[in-house]
Amino acid sequence: MGEEIYPPKGTILSSSDSASIRLAGNIIRTGGLVAFPTETVYGLGCDAMNPVAAAKVFEAKQRPQFDPLIVHIADRSQLDAVVTSQPPLAQKLMDAFWPGPLTIVLPKQSVIPDLVTAGLSTVGLRMPSHPVAQALIREAGTSIAAPSANPFGYVSPTTAQHVSGSLGSKVDLILDGGPCSVGVESTIVSLIDTQPELLRPGNITLEQLTAIIGPVRCGASDHDQPIAPGQLTRHYATLTRLTILASAGTQAVPASDERAGLLLISQSKVNADRFTAVEVLSPNGDLQEAARNLFAALRRLDALQLDRIYAEPCKEVGLGMAIMDRLRRCAAR
Ligand code: AMP
Ligand code: MG
Repeated sequence: MGEEIYPPKGTILSSSDSASIRLAGNIIRTGGLVAFPTETVYGLGCDAMNPVAAAKVFEAKQRPQFDPLIVHIADRSQLDAVVTSQPPLAQKLMDAFWPGPLTIVLPKQSVIPDLVTAGLSTVGLRMPSHPVAQALIREAGTSIAAPSANPFGYVSPTTAQHVSGSLGSKVDLILDGGPCSVGVESTIVSLIDTQPELLRPGNITLEQLTAIIGPVRCGASDHDQPIAPGQLTRHYATLTRLTILASAGTQAVPASDERAGLLLISQSKVNADRFTAVEVLSPNGDLQEAARNLFAALRRLDALQLDRIYAEPCKEVGLGMAIMDRLRRCAAR
C-alpha cells in the first residue's frame, strides 16, 4: 500500500478498531507518521529504520536535530536488531520494568539511522505497556521511533485531542486510545557509563531503580548541551509564565491587575478567591493521579491567556521528583 490511500492529514480513528491498527501499521511501513497512545504520553511514531520518515518527525515537531528519538519495541526479540550489547543491569531493568514507562540507553546498532539518535552511538529504548502501542509496533513489523507528539518544547500531549490541536495537519493518522494513564514522559536511565545515570525522572522512580540495580547517579539535569533534551532547562513549557510557590500551601497572592491561574497538587487550604482559574491535580494528593492530570491541566490554564500560572510544589520523593522536574522546566525562562 502506498501513500495514495492515506486518510486526510490529522484524521483521528479509534484505536479499538482493528482496521485502524492495520491502516496505522501500513502508514508506518510506508514511511508515514502516526500519533499513538502510550501509557506515558502520546507519541509521534515513524519506522525507526527509515531516515526519511524520521526527518518528517523532526520537521513536524520543529525538533532540533541534536535531540535523539526514543525507539519503541514490542518484544525483546527485537533487541538484537537495535543494540550491540545487553549488559546484566539492562536485563535486570527489563525484567523489572518492561513493558512499562522506562527508557534504557544502550549502545546502538549501526542500522539505526544517525538522524534518529542525533548522531550518538547510543539509543534510548523502551517497550511500552499500552496495548495500542504494542499492537501498532507488531502490526508495523519494525521498531518505532517516537518522541512526544507535540511541537518541540511545549507541554506533552496526553489525549488525541491535544495532538490534533497542535500537530493535526502534519500527522498522517492519530490513533485515539483515550487519556494516558501515567501522564508524564518515561523515566530515562543510561547504562553507558560504569555507573547508571538517571537522565530524566518519570513514573519509574529513582527509589524503584535503586532497589533493582543499586546506586544510580542523578546530577545531569542542567546540561546546556543536553544528551537528553528532557534535560533542557526550559522544556515541557506553557506559553504562559509559570511560578512555583515557595512551599505547598503557601498563600499565592496575584498582583491586583494580574489574571492568574492556580495549579494545586491537592485540595489545599489556599485561598483561591483572587484567581481566574484553579486546577486541582488530585483532591487527595495522590501523586499518580496528579501526574496523570498535570499536562491537561497546564494546557487548560495555558489556553486562558492568563498573565501567570502559580503552581504548588510537592515533595521530591517517588513520583514527586518527575512532577517537580516538569514544573521547574516549565517555570524556567
Ligand atoms: P520525548 O519522547 O520527546 O520526551 O524525547 C525523548 C527523550 O529521550 C529526549 O529527551 C531524548 O533526548 C532522550 N533520548 C533518546 N535517545 C537518547 C540517547 N541515546 N541518549 C540520551 N537520551 C536519549
Ligand atoms: Mg518531548
